Amino acid sequence: MIPFDDKFHEECGLFGIFGHGDSAPHTALGLHALQHRGQEAAGIVSYDGQQFHSHRTPGLVGETFDSADIMERLGGDAAIGHVRYSTTGQTALRNIQPLFAEFDFGGMAVAHNGNLTNAFSLRRELVNRGSIFQSTTDTEVLIHLIANSRDSTPYARPDSADPEVVLRVIKALRQIQGAYSLICLTNNVLLGARDPWGVRPLIIGEIDGAMILASETCALDIIGANFVRDVAPGEVVVIDKSGLKSLKPFLTVPSKFCIFEYVYFSRPDSVVEGSNVYEVRRRIGAELAREKPVNGADVVTPVPDSGTPAAIGFAAESGIPFELGIIRNHYVGRTFIEPADQIRHLGVRLKHNPNKASLSGKKVVLVDDSIVRGTTSVKIVEMVRNAGAAEVHMRIASPPTTHSCFYGVDTPDRDKLMAANMDIKEMQHHIGVDSLSFLSIDGLYRAMGEPSRNTKQPQYCDACFSGEYPIALTDHQDGNPPTQLSLLAEK
Ligand code: AMP
Repeated sequence: MIPFDDKFHEECGLFGIFGHGDSAPHTALGLHALQHRGQEAAGIVSYDGQQFHSHRTPGLVGETFDSADIMERLGGDAAIGHVRYSTTGQTALRNIQPLFAEFDFGGMAVAHNGNLTNAFSLRRELVNRGSIFQSTTDTEVLIHLIANSRDSTPYARPDSADPEVVLRVIKALRQIQGAYSLICLTNNVLLGARDPWGVRPLIIGEIDGAMILASETCALDIIGANFVRDVAPGEVVVIDKSGLKSLKPFLTVPSKFCIFEYVYFSRPDSVVEGSNVYEVRRRIGAELAREKPVNGADVVTPVPDSGTPAAIGFAAESGIPFELGIIRNHYVGRTFIEPADQIRHLGVRLKHNPNKASLSGKKVVLVDDSIVRGTTSVKIVEMVRNAGAAEVHMRIASPPTTHSCFYGVDTPDRDKLMAANMDIKEMQHHIGVDSLSFLSIDGLYRAMGEPSRNTKQPQYCDACFSGEYPIALTDHQDGNPPTQLSLLAEK
């Protein structure tokens, strides 16, 4: 069986629109705004009333949809699109989403954000029963489940177009575990779904009477669309010519939205689950300044861009001046070829350069959103010291990342996570700072507007910080985290 080359590490952005003459151009623009959610590949599938059209290639959105010809070929009133980031080298073309399949009921395109935690087991079962897989992505498991499911779902027939198809998707979703926000396009409907815990985001928007589904509100802003509401955890929305129908086909469980979306992943100008991400990050910075102050510091400097809102909050709360001590070059893509060995020793700095004037001779508070492997911090601190900083005090706007994510954020295995392998003093020494402190988990929840973390039933999925995985990890028996550590199962 083909292994899943990238099964645990898929970060993605989704956009879908139904009932608009310019569906593909709007989708391309929406994906452009969601580029931070995935930079390795992009794709759009549209439907013109008779045929589906698809364009999917590796690269950034602007590189993928770079000609009028391509946009013209993607005709029709409905389209869905996907941006994807996978960690394993060159993205195989066959893994680029939206995936498309011809079923007995017609065509369907599927785009998925998140990771399924029982995809491997399901795939093994499906292959044993004769399914032939074309890709290594867990999204294809869903396609086979839809193909194999019949309308025996004990759920009322939805009052929408394609009711049998909707029931089959629901039946397939009932068999999968993990985190998913999903959009599907059939001949007649645009369907959106969030897993019962609502780990990954999905929102509803509207433009010129056409309905939109997208990962974040910044994808609506770029085309001047209106925000309608979040898709609720466990909700399936079906959009057809007569409007939007909401279904709740799953058992209700406590919601577990990913707290890391607020820490790092979402764009700061997005409103996620009712909170503006920038405001949350500023509050996180203020909490950090209260919890872990640096007395007598001269400047607060962010590691750009991820540390900037928290550094602004830290500076405002502490009264220490905010300075841009590190300047980021925005034109370096992830696809940029690393400098050859001969010039690497010159200390080529592709992405960041210190601004000596604001660092030299200063006691510096350096703020970043998180430490994952620690490689960024080591480089940045060396740079700040070489620029003449007298002292460097690192403040991290989240708790130590001690556990891998299996629900759709690309964190490496535990053996590569710095905080899983070192205590804070060892990390401080390794990074080379005069002091290192992280925000407490309660501080993070306070910044979210909660009194503290509810230890019995955490209000968010914070597995990367706590190791408490709310959704069963069926396929991870041999992984670092304990298996089946479901808070719900424990109750
Ligand atoms: P490092 O500690 O060198 O692995 O890099 C940590 C930095 O990478 C953080 O400060 C974030 O800005 C960024 N980061 C955190 N999580 C992710 C992720 N899942 N994908 C890409 N970048 C990330």
